[in-house]
Amino acid sequence: MIQEMMQRMGVDPALFETGDFPVYSPTDGAVLGRVQMESQADVTQRIDRAQAAFEQWRQVPAPRRGELVRLFGEQLRAHKEDLGTLVTLECGKIYQEGLGEVQEMIDICDLAVGQSRQLYGLTIASERPGHHMRESWHPLGPIGLITAFNFPVAPWAWNAALALVCGNSLLWKPSEKTPLCALACQGLLEKAMAEFGDEAPADLSQVILGEREAGEVLVDAPQVPLISATGSTRMGREVGPRVASRFGRSILELGGNNAMILTPSADLDMAVRAILFSAVGTAGQRCTTLRRLIVHDSIRDEVLARLKKAYHNIRIGDPMSGALAGPLIDAQAFDQMQSVLASAQEQGAVVHGGERQLAEQYPQAFYVAPAIVEMASQNELVRDETFAPILYVMGYQDFEQALAMNNDVPQGLSSCIFTTDLREAEAFVSDVGSDCGIANVNIGPSGAEIGGAFGGEKDTGGGRESGSDVWKSYMRRQTNTVNYSRELPLAQGIQFD
Ligand code: NAD
Repeated sequence: MIQEMMQRMGVDPALFETGDFPVYSPTDGAVLGRVQMESQADVTQRIDRAQAAFEQWRQVPAPRRGELVRLFGEQLRAHKEDLGTLVTLECGKIYQEGLGEVQEMIDICDLAVGQSRQLYGLTIASERPGHHMRESWHPLGPIGLITAFNFPVAPWAWNAALALVCGNSLLWKPSEKTPLCALACQGLLEKAMAEFGDEAPADLSQVILGEREAGEVLVDAPQVPLISATGSTRMGREVGPRVASRFGRSILELGGNNAMILTPSADLDMAVRAILFSAVGTAGQRCTTLRRLIVHDSIRDEVLARLKKAYHNIRIGDPMSGALAGPLIDAQAFDQMQSVLASAQEQGAVVHGGERQLAEQYPQAFYVAPAIVEMASQNELVRDETFAPILYVMGYQDFEQALAMNNDVPQGLSSCIFTTDLREAEAFVSDVGSDCGIANVNIGPSGAEIGGAFGGEKDTGGGRESGSDVWKSYMRRQTNTVNYSRELPLAQGIQFD
């Protein structure tokens, strides 16, 4: 099945059948393919080729560059099921979420096509007669992209679609756990490039298959002015300072520890649905997964009872066949989850669920029952991101306390409040409310739309991707002063005769 799908998406079988690095499916542990990891010398050569491609691509008018992204979006529409299936097989999220990821790619292509006609600057009043000032935006260079396993295609596309219309070439180092998805995206982009014609240089977009060492070559390359890196806070702590040490720019999209404040006035039917999707979706392996439920003491027992019932009914199993919770990515993720649950129990927490499931049917895969953990307080265990379906439930008495708990973690990605009290809702999104990059009202913390800027503060890294004015990150800003007079007045009235 993989062979035909990959071929339909334009991938040469030699790229995924003949290498010495096996790629496993988390759904059943089967080998999906074998890829060849690249040496540091290979990566360096790719960087040189990306520089040459950039020098050619930046000369193509931006709306014409948008046409390539439009064609790419068409390829994604035509191959949505194939790519969605591959996402499911390679990273284990359920098929509906695999399709959703591809839809996000299509959405960002649409946005980028429009943006390609709107790469606008400013005109600025000059203090000197016969002068005008303006601000213009120019292509930046080869853009380095490093991505995580849990969103193997969409975050690349958020960056790639905008970076391409902005006139840049691409170098993508995907997660070593999901290289086939990267090859498929590259295959689809190459199909679009073939349709587009010669203006698109062959090395406009390249995939670098490798582990962190390959990423490090990219991170240290002075020819790569921007590194956009998605992954753990640990990775960001290494990548951010290295890029800064050579005065490169970075967009860091790192770990989250996202909360919901559930108030006494909330619509509990809506809240329970939102909790279920955001805590259990992608088996708790989204950066925006709901990890902390801060619930008012007066409704805590009722909410817990409803949640336990809802969790009991979650279908766990093969993500291709209608289950709501698929597997964890690997044994290490499972061990990590078990060790955190054991520590929580030692600390007196009440743990519901969390056990391994379907072990006999899938001895090489790691399905778990999503866990609810009743915590007495927000301790160090809760403040850490465990990349698994663990929902900590903690009570609160007054709104100020809940808000303080929302913010009292190192990460600052997403957050939400369920309330029908206007004052609470507005306070949550005010200057003194949630300190996260995303703050929602009566919507869970996950499942962002393309139109807004996506990203978070503090240990989440401060980066933003997708909509709003994020396109500016992929361009360099230039201030121009033009003198159309016959005099040479100096600024600030300085006389220099
Ligand atoms: P990871 O940090 O282990 O790996 C991410 C990527 O970074 C991989 O491609 C890896 O090879 C590379 N890498 C690791 N160390 C590197 C280094 N020193 N130099 C260069 N490259 C390096 O993360 P993961 O396990 O794949 O993904 C899960 C994590 O990603 C979670 O913490 C999750 O919250 C986070 N995440 C964040 C976002 C977001 O938008 N904020 C989105 C998805 C995932």
